[in-house]
Amino acid sequence: SKVRIYTLAKELNLENAKMLEILDGLGVSYKSVSSTIEEDTVELIKQIVAEESTGAGEAQAAAPAEAQDAPKQEPAAQATQTQPTAAAQSAAPASSSATATQTRDDVVTEAPKTDIPHRAPVVTIMGHVDHGKTSLLDYIRKTRVAAKEAGGITQHVGAFEAQTSKGKIVFIDTPGHEAFTTIRARGANVADIAIIVIAADDSLMPQTREAIAHAQAAKVPMIIAINKMDLPQANPEKVKTDLTQLNLVPEEYGGDLIVVPVSARTGEGVEDLLEYISLNAELEDLRADPKGTFAGVVIEGKVDKQAGVLATVMVQEGTLHVGDFLVVGESYGKIKAMTDSAGGRIKEAGPSTPVQILGFSEVPTSGEKVSSAKNEHAARDLIAARASSRRDTENAQVQRKLTLEEMMGPLSTVRTVNLILRADTQGSVEAIQGILARKESEDLKINVMLSGIGAPTEGDVLLAGTAEATILCFSVTAPGSVTKIAENKGVDIKSFRIIYELIDEVDRLIKGNVEPVF
Ligand code: GDP
Repeated sequence: SKVRIYTLAKELNLENAKMLEILDGLGVSYKSVSSTIEEDTVELIKQIVAEESTGAGEAQAAAPAEAQDAPKQEPAAQATQTQPTAAAQSAAPASSSATATQTRDDVVTEAPKTDIPHRAPVVTIMGHVDHGKTSLLDYIRKTRVAAKEAGGITQHVGAFEAQTSKGKIVFIDTPGHEAFTTIRARGANVADIAIIVIAADDSLMPQTREAIAHAQAAKVPMIIAINKMDLPQANPEKVKTDLTQLNLVPEEYGGDLIVVPVSARTGEGVEDLLEYISLNAELEDLRADPKGTFAGVVIEGKVDKQAGVLATVMVQEGTLHVGDFLVVGESYGKIKAMTDSAGGRIKEAGPSTPVQILGFSEVPTSGEKVSSAKNEHAARDLIAARASSRRDTENAQVQRKLTLEEMMGPLSTVRTVNLILRADTQGSVEAIQGILARKESEDLKINVMLSGIGAPTEGDVLLAGTAEATILCFSVTAPGSVTKIAENKGVDIKSFRIIYELIDEVDRLIKGNVEPVF
């Protein structure tokens, strides 16, 4: 019978990535680690693995090629039946034998990356309101976070670490895409994987599409959790069909989108979801160096009446220690105390650890990047350097003139829709641009001449007037004075609160342009 790739990998005590490597070597096609493979391929793989683990160093390279020539050698199957078991047994108890194989690989292929240890995946949960994001996070927190003995209550600090059979998974627990967008708006990317929650009784809703657009724009892999499976009216098939219409094809329909049915109420499927997250993380091969230069991102900042300024920082690289100097934007602080997300006092924190820090002088904003400095003096120097480079960019922006190309779009016969894009956050701008880019074709160019955060300005109207562009606003509106100038100049300013309505407008503009005007 058929076997799923990750099941086989587990059975043979192999990393999924290694398993895929073997499959690639055999020329076997697959969609993802949850794809199934044929029985004879399974036997072949067992044989290869068995040969590799018997220590025949050279056989390792030779095996896949050999196998490719003779993929269906039936007689071999019998021999391998006993062999892999022996191999698995010898490899299983002592993980050192697996390490030995890896080191040997390193010498041959000299992959410097493998010196850097793996880190836990950071996951964000997004989706439409009321589809169960908070409930899902609560369920995972309740069942997967060991409450610290002292204190007891786990506080909301913006992220938490869940323990699973496959290791740690860090969840950003501000549900919705606000957290994702604000963090991305500052150029940081914290999430490695986005879980898009879709209620089985409601299917895709506007914010679901937005969440998907955000994840796509950020190039963050998505896993779909179809929630509320306990409801009698749950209709997961509809959700899958609807996804297909967005060009997101679930695995069982032949695509590569992982869709996991869950219930945040009963807990059904949550284990599977966690397993898929771990699998995905393994494939992404997430690594960070605890000994490297510290880098982190602010998840959340607040003022506590008693403690003062508290900020949750996600350690992305390096290790934080109590007493370290941290620089955020143009302010700095010294770490007085750190607590982990379960409320326990800690002295140091490595990659993929969310830590609540006491010691910032000002409340940092989520998404701000955090660096460390050796001492107070170095911290001040860093801030001074930042302030001066900020002033330089500000000046440069004022002086920058638009080129003709930017004004008029490319000078060719290609049909062009000129747009000026204004949105509330950089994340929204990028999400919209991501969708627009996919609408382009050989003879259609969507030219976003200017995009920016905040309401459109008089300058935008002037530019739109000369270039015959439409100004599209997302979650921002033009002030009265600007609207008036636009009316005078015959420039269209259109505002939207839902990305897809904005996109629909672009579709209308495209259609408008299709009519031959010459
Ligand atoms: P959010 O707005 O996406 O964070 O959604 P919530 O977690 O607040 O859930 C919205 C509503 O759906 C609440 O009344 C939940 O109790 C309910 N809900 C969430 N998950 C489930 C589920 O798996 N099954 C059922 N039956 N109800 C759920």
